[in-house]
Amino acid sequence: MRSTVGLRELAGPGPGSLRLINDGGQTGISYEPYCYHCYRRESQLEDGAKLNACQYCFLTSFCPSCQQTHPSAECATLQDIAADDKIIVDLRRRTGKSSTISFTKFPRKQHFLLSSAKDWYDYYTRLSDMGGFRSKMNRDLKYLANDPKEREFVEYMRCGTNTTTIQLTLIAALEAAIPNVSTRGSINLHIIGAAGAEFASVPAFEELLHFLPSLTALRLSFVGLNVLEDLKHDTETQNPHTLQCCTTCTKMGRTISITTWRGPYHAYVDTEFYKTPDLAAAFHSGFSVDEQADWYPTIKYLAHAPHPTLLTAARYFEIQGHMGVWKNLGAEFVKNAELNKWKGMSPSLAVCGDKPNEVVYQNYWWYIVKQR
Ligand SMILES: [Zn+2]
Ligand SMILES: [Zn+2]
Ligand SMILES: [Zn+2]
Repeated sequence: MRSTVGLRELAGPGPGSLRLINDGGQTGISYEPYCYHCYRRESQLEDGAKLNACQYCFLTSFCPSCQQTHPSAECATLQDIAADDKIIVDLRRRTGKSSTISFTKFPRKQHFLLSSAKDWYDYYTRLSDMGGFRSKMNRDLKYLANDPKEREFVEYMRCGTNTTTIQLTLIAALEAAIPNVSTRGSINLHIIGAAGAEFASVPAFEELLHFLPSLTALRLSFVGLNVLEDLKHDTETQNPHTLQCCTTCTKMGRTISITTWRGPYHAYVDTEFYKTPDLAAAFHSGFSVDEQADWYPTIKYLAHAPHPTLLTAARYFEIQGHMGVWKNLGAEFVKNAELNKWKGMSPSLAVCGDKPNEVVYQNYWWYIVKQR
């Protein structure tokens, strides 16, 4: 993922209103609000007039001359964004972390297809181990009972879908692209363009062990221009890191190894470290929007690579851009672009959205490019 994606992005609507700020290593967004209806900023209003914030979501502004409302469904979504932002701010203050991770605690003995789950609620309450919350939350993972500790737990679970969207989308892609995934002993995954969001989600890769009972060795390679600096020595030695797994997995001798390589993927494939993966994945690559020059040789390679490749994007216009590029390269698809059941459940406001209050979800769209 690009470095800005994966962080909570809070922005005013419309072009030109944004400024990237740096708050101690975290990229944040500040913005100059303007009227939802007439787009005027406060400085453009008649003498001394002020913008009023929507009294429900506080994220939409109105000038005194315009109507003081916006659509209620949109306002409700923005209230969710404000509530989830508060949860993340509280979390950061208490723990120093800015994301949560919630996945199946113990390895399953029996395999179930993730595609048999209808949504995140179904996954958590039926396939994972949150069955106890079945009547305490709704399908949107909103807590319905009264216990503050439980509420916090469910809120972290919902916000955590923005992290584990990576692992569940990968499992879904493995099911779609590899027919015998349920009986495989080892799986080799390449994460292309890996950046902050993918690294933050690393502990959740154990969900693949917990979800796929026959899997004993998961090999991950993170490749990209943003691969972390402090892992750089391993770029040279290619000594894999080993992820600390739960006691049960460790006793069973199951392992997750991680190698990193800094550089473009199309260069990585020519190194001695490269081994053909079962599946490669690029989350929110943004290759059709920005960084086109960096990505194009990699995309050209992936159009006819010896493995399937999962790609995701947040917005429809990006998907349209992706499809134009793949079409020119003659790529084919295992799965055509569609809405992703395993998108992150906690929305963000789009940065530089096309329209006011455009909301985006992590990995909202997904598709899989076919191997050659
Ligand atoms: Zn106005
Ligand atoms: Zn509102
Ligand atoms: Zn485990």
